[in-house]
Amino acid sequence: MTKQSVQAVYPCGECYCGCGAALDDPRAFFLTGHDKRAEAEVIREKYGSVVAFVVAHGYGPKSRRGPKPKLALPPAHARMRGGK
Ligand SMILES: [Zn+2]
Repeated sequence: MTKQSVQAVYPCGECYCGCGAALDDPRAFFLTGHDKRAEAEVIREKYGSVVAFVVAHGYGPKSRRGPKPKLALPPAHARMRGGK
């Protein structure tokens, strides 16, 4: 699936979730946490659940497209600074 083209959006001093709250930070799009609230609402309205959402986009247990494994930490001796 390819990325959809979207219209350009710019901060406007009001929360983009639709709650109507004014934002103090002129660079902000959302009040804290309201981005996730809006995201969850869109997923629920369009797909019904997060599971249906990820499956619709090619993810799932058999897809092998899930989150990438975390990188392994370097060996302990390589993480020590100035150790003897
Ligand atoms: Zn909001």
